[in-house]
Amino acid sequence: MIRVTLISHSPEPMRSLYMAYRTCYSALTPQQVFARIDDERITAEQMRTFIEERLKTGHASPLEQVYFEFGISGVSRAFSHQFVRHRVGISFEQQSQRYVTYKGGEFPYTIPDTVKKAGMDGKMEELFGRVGELYEEFVAAGVPAEDARFLLPNATNTNFKITVNFQSLLHICDLRLCTRAQWEFRKVAALMRAEVMKVVPELGRYLQPKCGEFRLGYCDESEKDWAACPIGRVRPHKDALFRLYDAHRKGELAPLRDEDWAAIEAEDPEPRLL
Ligand SMILES: Cc1cc2nc3c(=O)[nH]c(=O)nc-3n(C[C@H](O)[C@H](O)[C@H](O)COP(=O)(O)OP(=O)(O)OC[C@H]3O[C@@H](n4cnc5c(N)ncnc54)[C@H](O)[C@@H]3O)c2cc1C
Repeated sequence: MIRVTLISHSPEPMRSLYMAYRTCYSALTPQQVFARIDDERITAEQMRTFIEERLKTGHASPLEQVYFEFGISGVSRAFSHQFVRHRVGISFEQQSQRYVTYKGGEFPYTIPDTVKKAGMDGKMEELFGRVGELYEEFVAAGVPAEDARFLLPNATNTNFKITVNFQSLLHICDLRLCTRAQWEFRKVAALMRAEVMKVVPELGRYLQPKCGEFRLGYCDESEKDWAACPIGRVRPHKDALFRLYDAHRKGELAPLRDEDWAAIEAEDPEPRLL
């Protein structure tokens, strides 16, 4: 089972972020800003409002000054390979298949729901049972774990301890909460978001897929993928926005039709779904 636990984070994330931004825009020294927060001349509400305004801009480097530490367990090697592709603002420690030898040929693994729904989980378990036995045989024959692991499947579970800064976490959620991302990564990203929401909801709510109202607000994937996305209907595609802008600029916006006027003037207009 996938488990994601927020182990630690910047002691005062909102204060850290406020100070990082305020230092850029204020004649006050960071020490003076800190003192004003300390004696409540600057209130939590003022910090929140200021941060929200900054978050609407592209000034992102202050977001790197807030960090979150997570324990992540029960994820597959198929997931972990994607996870460690993130290169910036995130540090990983992952359970080793060199130093950890699975005992008795028992290795933990994940069976995707699609496999279960297809009724193929029994075959997967049977294969992994045989793999486990062979792994055990290899180890007993003196093959080191680092080589016996060549038998193991992508489904094998692994664990992480990571530290990620807020800017990087936003980026990871942009990509991995998107319905184009793999289900397991979406689940992990959603669980990280849920953990952050518990301790600092003011920041957690910004952890969205890139089409979220606090992020791009539109979809920049292909139109085909947008059309196939279950939330595509509540988010415009970027090409639609450009087409609309272009038509507006050229004075080519479709004029309201008679039926539109009829709907406007109707006492009880029929709601039209998107
Ligand atoms: C839906 C989806 C499908 C994917 N499919 C594939 C696939 O088929 N094959 C595959 O190999 N990978 C695939 N990936 C992984 C993808 O190519 C990236 O490796 C992954 O998203 C992490 O990289 P990043 O640049 O997004 O983030 P990070 O590495 O965390 O980087 C964060 C930001 O820093 C920038 N950055 C980082 N390093 C540099 C640098 N050296 N120079 C300039 N800018 C930098 C990035 O552009 C990014 O904006 C897929 C990812 C997604 C979300």
